[in-house]
Amino acid sequence: MNHMIHHHHQGLTWLQFPHLMAYKDIRHGIFTRQGGFSLPPYQGLNVSGSNGDDPDRVHKNRRLISEQMGHADMVFIRQTHGVTVFVVTANSLPISPPLPDADALVTQLPQKNLMIQVADCQAILIYDPIKQVVANIHSGWRGSIGNIVGKTIQTMIERFQCSPQDMLAGIGPSLGPCCSEFVNYRMEIPKAMWGYRLPKNHFDFWAMTEDQLVDAGVPGTRIQQSGLCTRCRTDLFFSYRREKQTGRFAALIGITDETM
Ligand SMILES: [Zn+2]
Repeated sequence: MNHMIHHHHQGLTWLQFPHLMAYKDIRHGIFTRQGGFSLPPYQGLNVSGSNGDDPDRVHKNRRLISEQMGHADMVFIRQTHGVTVFVVTANSLPISPPLPDADALVTQLPQKNLMIQVADCQAILIYDPIKQVVANIHSGWRGSIGNIVGKTIQTMIERFQCSPQDMLAGIGPSLGPCCSEFVNYRMEIPKAMWGYRLPKNHFDFWAMTEDQLVDAGVPGTRIQQSGLCTRCRTDLFFSYRREKQTGRFAALIGITDETM
């Protein structure tokens, strides 16, 4: 199920979705925790500055990523497990600090690498090659229940006249059906989503996201899953469920400068 392409350079390892890799107009990558400057329990390429890690190490980690991603601006948000979509335009920047509270980023601007930080939650990358629009979505179980995927696609349609059938989507490494036990699912997860329940009260959030993308109009053939579970693979990723006090790994997508 894992068809992601692995890249290694200067101690870093990052993954790419093959269908997105085919486009030279964008850059994207899911950076594993390998390499980087952070010490345990954030070892090594932690990009979060709000979990107790040394800010200098986080800054150096982010710079390592930037070097591999064309030195474009990295755009951060303060992720809140909500369903707010932040559209990055020339007028909405600069956005630092304070960072906007949001859980999805959309832009048509070149040289802006949209970054989502995760440790079990999904990062979902979307690209519309016709309208040249990219999106990066943070969707944990609350985001899945709130369908932030659908809301982001709706924003792309309204703001940039995108057509969902043109879009490509990649669902990043995150808590897999193997590890997503929800003991209190009767209280936490709406009944309408109990169809995703597996034995032992595990839930298939990967399938849920894929269905949300398809419901929004993205063809199933244009969706790729990483198939990698963060809790099973703490050699590659941070996992909140397994490690509690831990780092966040980075998922990025951005449009390259058209003059390049
Ligand atoms: Zn697992």
